[in-house]
Amino acid sequence: MGHDQKPLKGQIALVTGAGKGIGRACALALAQAGADVILGLRNSNLLADREEFEATGSNVLPVQMDVSKLDEIRDAVSVGHEHFGRIDVLINNAGIGAPNPAEKVTEGDFDETLDVNLKGTFFTAQEVGRIMIAQGYGRIINISSQAGFVALPTESIYCMTKAALVHLTKCLALEWAKYNITVNAVAPTFITTPGTRKWLEDPEFYQSVIDRIPLGRVGKTMDVAEPVVFLATPAASMITGATLMIDGGWTIQ
Ligand code: NAD
Repeated sequence: MGHDQKPLKGQIALVTGAGKGIGRACALALAQAGADVILGLRNSNLLADREEFEATGSNVLPVQMDVSKLDEIRDAVSVGHEHFGRIDVLINNAGIGAPNPAEKVTEGDFDETLDVNLKGTFFTAQEVGRIMIAQGYGRIINISSQAGFVALPTESIYCMTKAALVHLTKCLALEWAKYNITVNAVAPTFITTPGTRKWLEDPEFYQSVIDRIPLGRVGKTMDVAEPVVFLATPAASMITGATLMIDGGWTIQ
């Protein structure tokens, strides 16, 4: 059996928070798999190294999309949909989770994290879901975290949102299965990204992380992006409502 190098040829994907880190890697891996990609960016003027996308031979369309603003979600999805004519794959990646001891969390901190991680994810899924329902096809992948399964100190709000995404994944999978839409999630361990680099560069913190990961290393962004692409391919067409751990074994012990 030959391995299809471009299993997503002709498909259109939207990735939120696509400018850097895991979102950027997902967008790049989807483009390498043949999909044209709508890049949801909090600041659409700030797309670095566009050539990296162009080298894949796929088209990319940067759109202004702060997922904490419902009007920006609506506009971005509509611009992308009008440009490409459909949206087959949605990666709900945008997320924030600055360390914040529970006793210090303000109402503002609470709302800000929920606005991006939960409200943003839900309403992006709804907006794109309406298009997928009309098409009778869709693949939605939410970026959760191992923090949705185990507690991480100083991350109570973040952990709560990531656990909620695991359950939202099941809820949407159940409601939209009849439209041939699958909804899955991935739950990564620590991945080196612009968001985590400053913590992982602290040798003591890094060692405490490595001590918890049976595979003995933190993740690279492509360790997440490749399984995300798999969940968008026909090979995964019977998988829905699942959350795939990408944690090097952190949560098995
Ligand atoms: P990062 O901080 O390096 O990048 C986050 C991305 O999200 C950036 O592109 C940023 O612009 C975007 N973003 C933030 N707020 C936004 C908003 N309101 N609207 C649109 N975009 C917004 O983060 P990362 O480490 O690549 O994380 C990406 C996702 O993966 C997040 O959901 C995060 O919770 C999850 N995750 C990360 C790790 C990790 O260790 N890096 C582990 C598990 C899960």
